Amino acid sequence: MIDAHIHSDTRPYEDFEEMAIAGIDKAITCAHDPLPMKVSAVTFEHIQRLLKVDVQRAEENGIKLYVAVGIHPRSIPRDYKMVIGNLPQILEDKRAVAIGEIGIEKGTRLEIKVFKEQLELADKLEIPVIIHTPRKNKRKIVGILLQVLEDNIDASRVLIDHVNTEIIKEVIDYGSMLGLTVQPGKMMPFEAVMIMKEYGVDKFMLNSDMSSAPSDPLSVPKTVHKMRLEGFNDSEIVRVSSKNAENFFKI
Ligand SMILES: [Zn+2]
Repeated sequence: MIDAHIHSDTRPYEDFEEMAIAGIDKAITCAHDPLPMKVSAVTFEHIQRLLKVDVQRAEENGIKLYVAVGIHPRSIPRDYKMVIGNLPQILEDKRAVAIGEIGIEKGTRLEIKVFKEQLELADKLEIPVIIHTPRKNKRKIVGILLQVLEDNIDASRVLIDHVNTEIIKEVIDYGSMLGLTVQPGKMMPFEAVMIMKEYGVDKFMLNSDMSSAPSDPLSVPKTVHKMRLEGFNDSEIVRVSSKNAENFFKI
Protein backbone atom coordinates (compact mmCIF):
# COMPACT_ATOMS: atom_id res chain seq x y z
CA MET A 1 0.00 0.00 0.00
CA ILE A 2 1.05 3.59 -0.61
CA ASP A 3 0.24 6.56 1.61
CA ALA A 4 0.35 9.26 -1.07
CA HIS A 5 0.67 12.35 1.15
CA ILE A 6 2.39 12.51 4.54
CA HIS A 7 4.60 14.91 6.49
CA SER A 8 7.30 12.56 7.74
CA ASP A 9 9.32 15.28 9.48
CA THR A 10 6.53 15.81 12.04
CA ARG A 11 6.18 12.14 12.97
CA PRO A 12 8.03 9.79 15.35
CA TYR A 13 10.12 6.85 14.17
CA GLU A 14 7.54 4.41 15.57
CA ASP A 15 4.85 5.58 13.12
CA PHE A 16 6.83 4.16 10.21
CA GLU A 17 7.05 0.79 11.92
CA GLU A 18 3.28 0.77 12.56
CA MET A 19 2.59 1.70 8.95
CA ALA A 20 4.89 -1.03 7.66
CA ILE A 21 3.27 -3.64 9.91
CA ALA A 22 -0.13 -2.60 8.50
CA GLY A 23 1.12 -3.18 4.94
CA ILE A 24 2.34 0.23 3.74
CA ASP A 25 5.53 -0.17 1.73
CA LYS A 26 5.82 3.24 0.05
CA ALA A 27 4.87 6.82 0.96
CA ILE A 28 5.18 10.31 -0.47
CA THR A 29 6.24 13.00 1.96
CA CYS A 30 5.48 16.59 0.94
CA ALA A 31 7.35 19.81 1.62
CA HIS A 32 5.17 22.04 3.80
CA ASP A 33 5.32 24.77 6.46
CA PRO A 34 6.83 23.35 9.66
CA LEU A 35 8.53 26.71 10.35
CA PRO A 36 7.92 30.29 9.26
CA MET A 37 10.17 30.09 6.21
CA LYS A 38 11.18 33.71 5.92
CA VAL A 39 14.25 33.02 3.80
CA SER A 40 15.09 30.33 1.24
CA ALA A 41 17.84 28.83 3.44
CA VAL A 42 15.14 27.48 5.78
CA THR A 43 13.19 25.94 2.87
CA PHE A 44 16.37 24.27 1.59
CA GLU A 45 17.13 22.82 5.04
CA HIS A 46 13.56 21.54 5.29
CA ILE A 47 13.81 19.82 1.88
CA GLN A 48 17.19 18.29 2.73
CA ARG A 49 15.76 16.96 5.99
CA LEU A 50 13.06 15.11 4.00
CA LEU A 51 15.46 13.78 1.38
CA LYS A 52 18.22 12.67 3.72
CA VAL A 53 17.00 12.08 7.28
CA ASP A 54 13.42 10.97 6.65
CA VAL A 55 14.15 8.74 3.65
CA GLN A 56 16.59 6.95 5.96
CA ARG A 57 14.18 6.76 8.95
CA ALA A 58 11.46 5.25 6.76
CA GLU A 59 13.90 2.89 5.04
CA GLU A 60 15.01 1.48 8.41
CA ASN A 61 11.39 0.43 8.93
CA GLY A 62 10.96 -1.08 5.47
CA ILE A 63 9.16 1.86 3.83
CA LYS A 64 10.40 3.46 0.62
CA LEU A 65 9.89 7.17 1.07
CA TYR A 66 9.63 9.53 -1.91
CA VAL A 67 9.63 13.30 -1.64
CA ALA A 68 7.62 16.14 -3.17
CA VAL A 69 9.61 19.38 -3.04
CA GLY A 70 8.52 22.99 -3.43
CA ILE A 71 7.04 26.03 -1.73
CA HIS A 72 3.86 25.66 0.34
CA PRO A 73 1.50 28.68 0.07
CA ARG A 74 1.63 29.23 3.86
CA SER A 75 5.43 29.45 3.82
CA ILE A 76 6.71 31.62 1.00
CA PRO A 77 10.24 32.94 1.66
CA ARG A 78 10.93 36.53 0.60
CA ASP A 79 13.64 35.23 -1.78
CA TYR A 80 11.39 32.46 -3.11
CA LYS A 81 12.94 32.76 -6.57
CA MET A 82 16.09 31.18 -5.12
CA VAL A 83 14.06 28.09 -4.25
CA ILE A 84 12.34 27.83 -7.64
CA GLY A 85 15.70 28.35 -9.37
CA ASN A 86 17.19 25.42 -7.44
CA LEU A 87 14.27 22.99 -7.79
CA PRO A 88 15.52 21.42 -11.07
CA GLN A 89 18.78 20.48 -9.36
CA ILE A 90 17.01 19.18 -6.23
CA LEU A 91 14.73 17.10 -8.47
CA GLU A 92 17.74 15.23 -9.83
CA ASP A 93 17.71 13.23 -6.56
CA LYS A 94 16.03 9.92 -7.43
CA ARG A 95 13.75 10.14 -4.38
CA ALA A 96 12.44 13.60 -5.39
CA VAL A 97 9.52 12.64 -7.63
CA ALA A 98 7.16 15.65 -7.67
CA ILE A 99 6.69 19.33 -6.93
CA GLY A 100 4.44 19.80 -3.88
CA GLU A 101 2.62 20.45 -1.91
CA ILE A 102 1.91 23.71 -3.66
CA GLY A 103 -1.30 25.65 -4.10
CA ILE A 104 -3.29 28.58 -2.80
CA GLU A 105 -4.30 29.18 0.81
CA LYS A 106 -5.87 32.63 0.94
CA GLY A 107 -5.69 33.75 -2.66
CA THR A 108 -3.15 36.59 -2.38
CA ARG A 109 -1.34 37.80 -5.50
CA LEU A 110 1.98 36.53 -4.18
CA GLU A 111 0.55 33.04 -3.53
CA ILE A 112 -0.86 32.86 -7.05
CA LYS A 113 2.41 34.07 -8.57
CA VAL A 114 4.53 31.50 -6.70
CA PHE A 115 2.01 28.76 -7.50
CA LYS A 116 2.00 29.62 -11.20
CA GLU A 117 5.81 29.67 -11.45
CA GLN A 118 6.04 26.21 -9.88
CA LEU A 119 3.39 24.84 -12.26
CA GLU A 120 5.25 26.20 -15.27
CA LEU A 121 8.43 24.53 -14.02
CA ALA A 122 6.69 21.18 -13.45
CA ASP A 123 5.16 21.30 -16.92
CA LYS A 124 8.55 22.09 -18.45
CA LEU A 125 10.30 19.30 -16.50
CA GLU A 126 7.34 16.94 -17.15
CA ILE A 127 6.95 15.96 -13.51
CA PRO A 128 3.83 15.60 -11.33
CA VAL A 129 2.49 18.22 -8.91
CA ILE A 130 0.61 17.76 -5.62
CA ILE A 131 -1.93 20.52 -5.10
CA HIS A 132 -2.97 21.60 -1.61
CA THR A 133 -6.57 22.77 -1.17
CA PRO A 134 -7.31 24.71 2.04
CA ARG A 135 -9.87 23.93 4.75
CA LYS A 136 -11.20 27.50 4.81
CA ASN A 137 -13.09 28.96 1.82
CA LYS A 138 -12.46 25.68 0.03
CA ARG A 139 -14.88 26.13 -2.86
CA LYS A 140 -13.85 29.68 -3.63
CA ILE A 141 -10.11 28.88 -3.54
CA VAL A 142 -10.57 25.74 -5.63
CA GLY A 143 -12.28 27.87 -8.28
CA ILE A 144 -9.15 30.07 -8.48
CA LEU A 145 -6.86 27.00 -8.37
CA LEU A 146 -8.58 25.32 -11.29
CA GLN A 147 -8.29 28.44 -13.41
CA VAL A 148 -4.54 28.76 -12.73
CA LEU A 149 -4.06 25.02 -13.37
CA GLU A 150 -5.91 25.11 -16.68
CA ASP A 151 -3.74 27.98 -17.90
CA ASN A 152 -0.37 26.57 -16.84
CA ILE A 153 -0.08 22.77 -16.78
CA ASP A 154 -1.28 19.59 -18.43
CA ALA A 155 -3.99 17.99 -16.23
CA SER A 156 -2.32 14.57 -16.53
CA ARG A 157 0.48 15.83 -14.27
CA VAL A 158 -1.85 17.11 -11.52
CA LEU A 159 -3.00 15.57 -8.23
CA ILE A 160 -5.57 17.74 -6.43
CA ASP A 161 -5.48 16.82 -2.77
CA HIS A 162 -7.81 16.94 0.25
CA VAL A 163 -10.82 16.56 -2.04
CA ASN A 164 -14.19 16.27 -0.26
CA THR A 165 -17.88 16.30 -1.14
CA GLU A 166 -17.89 20.11 -1.08
CA ILE A 167 -15.61 20.39 -4.13
CA ILE A 168 -15.69 17.02 -5.85
CA LYS A 169 -18.12 18.03 -8.58
CA GLU A 170 -15.88 20.90 -9.68
CA VAL A 171 -12.64 18.93 -9.61
CA ILE A 172 -13.83 15.67 -11.17
CA ASP A 173 -14.56 17.41 -14.48
CA TYR A 174 -11.10 18.97 -14.60
CA GLY A 175 -9.59 15.54 -15.34
CA SER A 176 -6.66 15.33 -12.91
CA MET A 177 -5.99 12.68 -10.26
CA LEU A 178 -7.62 13.32 -6.87
CA GLY A 179 -6.37 12.70 -3.34
CA LEU A 180 -8.69 11.56 -0.54
CA THR A 181 -7.22 12.63 2.78
CA VAL A 182 -8.51 10.43 5.58
CA GLN A 183 -7.67 12.36 8.72
CA PRO A 184 -9.51 13.15 11.98
CA GLY A 185 -11.55 16.31 11.40
CA LYS A 186 -11.23 16.09 7.62
CA MET A 187 -12.65 12.76 6.49
CA MET A 188 -13.42 9.35 8.00
CA PRO A 189 -12.73 6.06 6.13
CA PHE A 190 -16.47 5.55 5.47
CA GLU A 191 -16.73 8.98 3.81
CA ALA A 192 -13.86 8.14 1.46
CA VAL A 193 -15.59 4.85 0.68
CA MET A 194 -18.86 6.65 -0.11
CA ILE A 195 -17.09 8.96 -2.55
CA MET A 196 -15.46 5.99 -4.32
CA LYS A 197 -18.81 4.18 -4.47
CA GLU A 198 -20.22 7.13 -6.36
CA TYR A 199 -17.24 8.05 -8.58
CA GLY A 200 -15.27 4.78 -8.94
CA VAL A 201 -11.61 4.25 -8.07
CA ASP A 202 -9.72 5.18 -11.25
CA LYS A 203 -9.10 8.83 -10.33
CA PHE A 204 -8.29 8.48 -6.63
CA MET A 205 -5.32 7.96 -4.31
CA LEU A 206 -5.54 7.58 -0.54
CA ASN A 207 -3.49 9.42 2.04
CA SER A 208 -3.30 10.27 5.75
CA ASP A 209 -1.70 13.74 5.45
CA MET A 210 -0.21 12.83 8.83
CA SER A 211 1.34 15.92 10.33
CA SER A 212 1.51 17.76 13.66
CA ALA A 213 -2.29 18.15 13.46
CA PRO A 214 -4.44 15.23 14.74
CA SER A 215 -3.58 12.37 12.38
CA ASP A 216 -3.83 8.63 11.91
CA PRO A 217 -0.80 6.85 10.37
CA LEU A 218 -3.11 3.92 9.61
CA SER A 219 -5.65 5.92 7.57
CA VAL A 220 -4.85 4.10 4.32
CA PRO A 221 -5.01 0.52 5.69
CA LYS A 222 -8.19 1.42 7.64
CA THR A 223 -9.83 2.77 4.48
CA VAL A 224 -8.76 -0.33 2.54
CA HIS A 225 -10.28 -2.48 5.29
CA LYS A 226 -13.54 -0.53 5.04
CA MET A 227 -13.51 -0.94 1.23
CA ARG A 228 -13.18 -4.70 1.62
CA LEU A 229 -16.11 -4.80 4.06
CA GLU A 230 -18.18 -2.74 1.62
CA GLY A 231 -17.60 -5.18 -1.24
CA PHE A 232 -14.90 -3.53 -3.37
CA ASN A 233 -12.90 -6.20 -5.22
CA ASP A 234 -9.12 -6.75 -5.04
CA SER A 235 -8.37 -5.02 -8.31
CA GLU A 236 -10.26 -1.86 -7.25
CA ILE A 237 -8.50 -1.86 -3.88
CA VAL A 238 -5.05 -2.30 -5.45
CA ARG A 239 -5.71 0.54 -7.90
CA VAL A 240 -6.71 3.10 -5.28
CA SER A 241 -4.18 2.04 -2.65
CA SER A 242 -1.13 1.41 -4.90
CA LYS A 243 -1.36 1.34 -8.68
CA ASN A 244 -2.75 4.84 -9.27
CA ALA A 245 0.06 6.37 -7.19
CA GLU A 246 2.73 4.13 -8.75
CA ASN A 247 1.68 5.19 -12.25
CA PHE A 248 1.28 8.86 -11.39
CA PHE A 249 4.60 9.27 -9.55
CA LYS A 250 6.42 6.61 -11.64
CA ILE A 251 7.60 4.84 -8.48
ZN1 LIG B 1 -0.15 18.13 3.61
